[in-house]
Amino acid sequence: MTSETLAQQEQLEELAAKLVAARRHLHENPELSHEEFETTAFIKAWLEEAGIRIAPYSLRTGLVAEVGGLRPGPVVAIRADIDALPIREETGLPYASKVPGKMHACGHDFHTAAVLGAAYLLKQKEEELPGTVRFLFQPAEEKASGALKVIGSGALENVRAVFGLHNKPDLPVGTLGIKEGPLMAAADGFVAEIEGRGSHAALPEAGSDPIVASAQIVSAVQSIVSRNISSLDSAVVSVTKLHSGTAWNVIPEKALLEGTIRTFDEGVRSRVLARFREVVEGVAAASGTKASLRWIQGPPPVNNSAELAELARTTADALGYSAVTPLPSPAGEDFAFYQREVPGLFVFVGTDGPHEWHHQAFDLDEAALPVSARFFSELALRALLELADPPAGGANG
Ligand SMILES: [Zn+2]
Ligand SMILES: [Zn+2]
Repeated sequence: MTSETLAQQEQLEELAAKLVAARRHLHENPELSHEEFETTAFIKAWLEEAGIRIAPYSLRTGLVAEVGGLRPGPVVAIRADIDALPIREETGLPYASKVPGKMHACGHDFHTAAVLGAAYLLKQKEEELPGTVRFLFQPAEEKASGALKVIGSGALENVRAVFGLHNKPDLPVGTLGIKEGPLMAAADGFVAEIEGRGSHAALPEAGSDPIVASAQIVSAVQSIVSRNISSLDSAVVSVTKLHSGTAWNVIPEKALLEGTIRTFDEGVRSRVLARFREVVEGVAAASGTKASLRWIQGPPPVNNSAELAELARTTADALGYSAVTPLPSPAGEDFAFYQREVPGLFVFVGTDGPHEWHHQAFDLDEAALPVSARFFSELALRALLELADPPAGGANG
């Protein structure tokens, strides 16, 4: 090992300890979507201590920072989400959540610390950077609305490529899940109100029963996946809430159904949504009731750039990490909104956890923090080099 790599090794170990401390602080103090005030203040203080400049994009929670720009070149962005979930933590960890009913159960504390680390490493070579790296500390991913706030602030201006990460409990530390094309699903929600006519439970012929109609709707929508889309495509239709009735001897007037539809392709998405409406309205009408359907439009599918995926694989290889092709996840991710604006790559980072995302005992291996910091700083640097405009005057200039 040369003295230079030894020094780098020491620097990385020092940074790893700082990132663990930052992650644990965030873990102990989780804040829900759009309420990330203390989290934002913490990130700001951490960046300022590292001499990293805060960029002037106005956000109520969350913030944008930048490194580079001393030499001309393109702008690339790295995004971390910062919000927690309304879950009561049951990990028993010494740094478990101090806030009852709130928990970083999706590992966004990890994402924040990892991107702080990438910013720190890039800051060390700021003078050499051929362009600017912008860091998007985004609020409210769990409500799928924070990315739109960041885009609305103008922080994607001039950005040529955007990178994002999610921890992945089923991949080992040192492994990165890199895949072009669809990676995470479009996550749309629905609320269907079935309006019938109430009556005495003993005289159903005098009313229109919304409970019987709802039961038929729940069964009928399951045929959409099996009968209306190709076996080579995939989708999920789940009814997750069904409310109706007030007493054992009364046929109620209304029933309420809620649930979600997950798809990986915009064409499949619009077909499933259109078919869902037809089935719900048609079955309701056939049962003598009336359905009114409201969509809770979620993010589109996460769809990764093939060029950036290739760049990420080369980067992983150069750093000695292993890159695998992960299975797509049917969870939604509002990173997809950035990818509608600029080419992007969302990467899964192996964190070897005992439970899936959103579990009350969710945990991860912090050894993945320096891996992520190193990987994303190197990836951003390589993206700047790759995207740089050819020198003026052409190839011979
Ligand atoms: Zn989540
Ligand atoms: Zn998440």
